Amino acid sequence: MPKLNENFLRIQNSYLFSEIAHRTAAYVEANPDKPIIRLGIGDVTKPLADTVIAALHEGVDIMADAATFKGYGPEQGYDEARNAISAYYKKNGVDVEPEAIFISDGAKSDTGNITDLFGHDNVILIPDPVYPVYVDSNIMCGNSVTYISGNAGNDFLPMPDRSQHADIIYICSPNNPTGACYNKEQLQEWVDYALENEAVILFDSAYEAFISDPTLPRSIFAIEGAKKCAIEFCSLSKTAGFTGTRCGYTVVPKELVFKASTGEEMSLNTMWNRRQCTKYNSTAYIIQHAAAAVFTDEGMAQCRENIACYQKNARLIADTLSDLGIRFYGGIHSPYVWFECPDGMEAWECFDYLLNNIQVVGTPGAGFGENGRNFFRLTAFGSYENTVEAMNRFRRLFGK
Ligand SMILES: *Cc1c(COP(=O)(O)O)cnc(C)c1O
Repeated sequence: MPKLNENFLRIQNSYLFSEIAHRTAAYVEANPDKPIIRLGIGDVTKPLADTVIAALHEGVDIMADAATFKGYGPEQGYDEARNAISAYYKKNGVDVEPEAIFISDGAKSDTGNITDLFGHDNVILIPDPVYPVYVDSNIMCGNSVTYISGNAGNDFLPMPDRSQHADIIYICSPNNPTGACYNKEQLQEWVDYALENEAVILFDSAYEAFISDPTLPRSIFAIEGAKKCAIEFCSLSKTAGFTGTRCGYTVVPKELVFKASTGEEMSLNTMWNRRQCTKYNSTAYIIQHAAAAVFTDEGMAQCRENIACYQKNARLIADTLSDLGIRFYGGIHSPYVWFECPDGMEAWECFDYLLNNIQVVGTPGAGFGENGRNFFRLTAFGSYENTVEAMNRFRRLFGK
């Protein structure tokens, strides 16, 4: 009998989305005449941009011709995609060399796989609440984690505690689920803290394209010193609607060099390259060709149009909650609005209350960590019409 990875026994069952589906289905069955509005999903709904579709078709044609056909590509990704991403960084005022960029099938894989680079006795700081992948991937490989508290007192933007040592620090900004976004000074504090501790920041910027204030950093590498202490995970999922198409990229600067216990220097860029070459053959050429098209002026403009639609929905949700006096976070630089459940309700109680009274389905904050127990996440990924209708229902339910 094989000895199993019993760390799986320590992972909490992820019942969040199945429980939402279960409760919603039961309600629909009992109330077939009451139309439901779903503002719970963290998935885009708009189709791919025309430029992207054209590139996908072109990619298929390239694969159809023996003269241009491509088999295995470079494990790090094609130059076309890496150069396009490097140029995109440059446009945002950040220098990232193509050799530091690794193309992948998405940020979920990379944020989960990055644990391969680290030992098992690190002090790992993970915000609560946050995207559950960071915690689960660490538990899965036998690590223990230390939570840093995001709460109303710090606007869900936890800051470093200098009395606490850290080796690895996860940061997601703009945050899923809270929508909270760090400013430059705050991220500088995290970078300074990481440098003092010789720690590595694992920075998830999956929502950078939602940042509308040009003074807010869209990359950790906009912060001085970050190349010596940070890895950045990005994704075309929310930027360009690639959730079903699958493409992301991870930046591992060559400056990230640490001493091994033997005294030898180890480069995280070299290690990640080795890891990818061993376990991964990159994402499909056709997809990488389409990803490169996202970063053309035309592609960017079209993707921005889609994001603007989601931002309009987010603004509408935020304005409605403001009018109703419901305390919330996010909604400005993020497709997520994170609100405090009214009347002291717990998150699942609030879920049932909204479902039963106004047939609006959202996501209970309890699914993202302890600190979400009295919070609720709405997303801006629905249609404008549905968002308007949901907010009208909120006004009826919570209006004075
Ligand atoms: C959606 C999301 C991602 C993107 O994951 P993909 O695998 O690229 O689709 C990464 N991080 C967070 C926090 C997300 O919400």
